[in-house]
Amino acid sequence: MTEVFENSASFASDLDSKDELQSFRREFSIPQKNGKSVLYFTGNSLGLQPVRARKLVEEELAKWAQYGVDGHFEGGRPWFTYHEHAKKGLSVLVGARESEVVAMNNLTSNLHLMMVSFFRPTKSRFKIIMEAGAFPSDQYAVESQLKFHGLDPEQALIEISPREGEFTLRNKDILQVIEEHGNETALVLMSGIQYYTGQKFNIKAITEMAHQKGAVAGFDLAHAIGNIKMNLHDDQVDFAVWCSYKYLNSGPGGVSGVFVHERHGDNPGLPRFAGWWGHDQDSRFLMQKGFKPMPGADGWQLSNVNILGTAAHLAALNIVLDAGWQKLLDKSRNLTAYLQYLLADLGKTFNDFKVITPEKPDERGCQLSLFFYRNGREVFDFLTENGVVADWREHPLNETSERAGVIRIAPVPLYNTYQDVFQFSRLLKLALEKEHERITE
Ligand SMILES: *Cc1c(COP(=O)(O)O)cnc(C)c1O
Repeated sequence: MTEVFENSASFASDLDSKDELQSFRREFSIPQKNGKSVLYFTGNSLGLQPVRARKLVEEELAKWAQYGVDGHFEGGRPWFTYHEHAKKGLSVLVGARESEVVAMNNLTSNLHLMMVSFFRPTKSRFKIIMEAGAFPSDQYAVESQLKFHGLDPEQALIEISPREGEFTLRNKDILQVIEEHGNETALVLMSGIQYYTGQKFNIKAITEMAHQKGAVAGFDLAHAIGNIKMNLHDDQVDFAVWCSYKYLNSGPGGVSGVFVHERHGDNPGLPRFAGWWGHDQDSRFLMQKGFKPMPGADGWQLSNVNILGTAAHLAALNIVLDAGWQKLLDKSRNLTAYLQYLLADLGKTFNDFKVITPEKPDERGCQLSLFFYRNGREVFDFLTENGVVADWREHPLNETSERAGVIRIAPVPLYNTYQDVFQFSRLLKLALEKEHERITE
């Protein structure tokens, strides 16, 4: 960690020249606007394209051209076992055994598949606890699962909201809700990092409390994977799902993944929706009746592997392994700390916005969410015109202020630089100055 930061271009460029991961930026295609590289801060939405993705995708196109159906068993990485190559990277990223993770399908589909196995309500234990304002797809999945079981979301869904006047949840409030409703709760389903506020939830404490009350603990890691360190195995998490196109840079709609703890993965009797790719590998092509699940997370696979999507996924995972996961985490802390410092400096002059993401590094990932009390949209448009790629979200839980909303900024350690962060802060300052001029005119 850098001890003391300075608000200057030369300081930022000095940090870049000392950054041992700086060469990894060249592994990515940085979008251009008006002949210049954009300041890309939406790795939390769609990570940039790894240059080597093209090579791995082309390898599979070539294999398909050369072998046709025999590509399932021939060539460098036969398609029959292609997904296995993702296990190493995924297990490192989520802190799991290789047998506990598998790359497959898409995120929302996997969330449904996991809920089939892990949300099994009874008369007395039927509730789901989740954070209020969760990503809409998760809300729809949960509501539809409840209705599918004949339950009324009004009664069966407990949403945890921030306290009056606050944006993020307090850990002790989360635990208290689980404690309070725990005896009637079948599933606690939280995100790892909240997509809107950037808040990191305490996976270990939430899982412990859920288990203490006899409930299952599952997590949506869409904004956590590739962003924060996790130990799903040791933390005894029951299941988790994620997508690979955000911090994992595996391409739009890229293959998702799941974690199933080995105490469930090795239980062939656990109910699930089954398909042939989850069936015992050695007898799969005998095409016989009688589903016999693969051990581990592999036993939840349905279909044969999406090879082209998974090829891009492998390329992206290999970059993380090459850079070193711990080194990326260390750089991420420093990079976001620098952004925090620059924003705090701006905050001495301007009170138009407030960073609602928790300040402590252990309570967030790389993303900072800047809440604008007013005119955020105008500031955002100015930034966009000047080459910043970020995003603007109206505030879903706040109906009071007109045009209040959030600009989310995610500096990612693989391709963002300290100079990106510095330039962003300069443009934000310009935008705010401009807004103030406009208002006082
Ligand atoms: C990005 C994201 C999704 C998107 O779901 P897809 O099935 O990949 O389209 C869902 N949930 C969360 C929490 C997300 O952040």
